[in-house]
Amino acid sequence: MNVELQKKLKNDYPEIFKYLYLEEDDIPNDFDDRMGLPIELFGIECDNGWFTLIDTLCNTIKNICQKSDTPKVHQIKEKYGGMRFYIGSMSKDTYKQIHGAIMLAENMSYKICEKCGTTNNVKLDESGWIRTLCEDCRNE
Ligand SMILES: [Zn+2]
Repeated sequence: MNVELQKKLKNDYPEIFKYLYLEEDDIPNDFDDRMGLPIELFGIECDNGWFTLIDTLCNTIKNICQKSDTPKVHQIKEKYGGMRFYIGSMSKDTYKQIHGAIMLAENMSYKICEKCGTTNNVKLDESGWIRTLCEDCRNE
């Protein structure tokens, strides 16, 4: 995902994206001494078309967590054509709701072009790298 969109997510959901470092100043001092989380090392590992999906999911998580700890993203990536969203620990009361929301978003990702975000003529492109793309992006 491009830096501009990642900055928007970090700005709107600073708690959820605590480990997403886009500026030199974000990087914690102990970072060199430990293994980084995927989000710390690679940022958000999917294309721009899933921005709205991730934005909506984070907004839902934020609303669920109004009275409890907000979980932090450890990794967001594309795998076998679908969005995968991994987070750290969360409180017992919000666990089921958050997992339900993540499941819905992950399922929705198969209906949204990863590149441009359209839902028109989207399917799994299994020629080579398996991705969820619309007809136009498939033919590019
Ligand atoms: Zn597309």
